[in-house]
Amino acid sequence: MKIQKKFKISCAIAATTLSLLTSSLAIAQTAAPTTTTAAASKVEMQWLGQAGFRIVSPGGKLIVVDPWIKGGPKAPANYKADLAALGKIDILLVTHAHVDHLGDAPALAILNKTKLYGPADMVTPLITLGMIPADLGHRFNKSGNVKPSPGIKVTAVKAEHSSLIVWNNPLTSKNESHPAGEAMGYIIELENGFKIWHMGDTGLFGDMQFIAEYYKPDLVLIPIGGNFTMDPEDAAFALNTWIKPKMVIPMHYNSNPLTPGTLAEFQAAMKGSSVKIVPMTEGQTLSF
Ligand SMILES: [Zn+2]
Repeated sequence: MKIQKKFKISCAIAATTLSLLTSSLAIAQTAAPTTTTAAASKVEMQWLGQAGFRIVSPGGKLIVVDPWIKGGPKAPANYKADLAALGKIDILLVTHAHVDHLGDAPALAILNKTKLYGPADMVTPLITLGMIPADLGHRFNKSGNVKPSPGIKVTAVKAEHSSLIVWNNPLTSKNESHPAGEAMGYIIELENGFKIWHMGDTGLFGDMQFIAEYYKPDLVLIPIGGNFTMDPEDAAFALNTWIKPKMVIPMHYNSNPLTPGTLAEFQAAMKGSSVKIVPMTEGQTLSF
């Protein structure tokens, strides 16, 4: 294990992070995300807050999932100031249409001329309402997979959640609610075989065990905030009983008073678990 750069962080979090770094995990901290001009040799992940992640694949492809940037209270300031600072996005994934997930994805699809991949019946209203042009929407559905770049495969999997678009009609200036299909999670397999399960927003469901057995994710991104999703105890049960991944990054907390679950509660619920917890702070970047 090597630390690529010294990482300045508050004492409490540094202690937690350092204790994790003593584990056998090959995790390195980087002070700032790399650009995609030089191919990365590892998987680089930056937490954008809530369920948002900026991932650089081992082949140097930039993947962005659930970018809630402009309205996201914990999104990195440089991205809030300029969405282009995220870099040239190769693969844009959205798990469902709630604002803290769809967020700036339509704007990023248009800015990057990149397809927005999402639940079929979410992408259709994005197109029919005029939020994205038809050629920038890719509709797929659970068990379906896409191969948006050589060596990268994204498979849609079940999430136990809902999906609704709130759209401001420019003719009336009023908000309208539109059905937006079913929420999904994603198994993201990268060029080196590393598999990330972004669970999206989800409650507990028994087929988490099937998904783990069938797709064998290395790293799970799991919601712990409660209210709209699993809470810390639910997430710990799912991880220890059904999923049993090598590593987990908790997400979907710390951005909204209606998602009160905390990292400390999650760590307490996971005490004694063989699953390595990799806590992140918003804006932080790790390499795997
Ligand atoms: Zn949601």
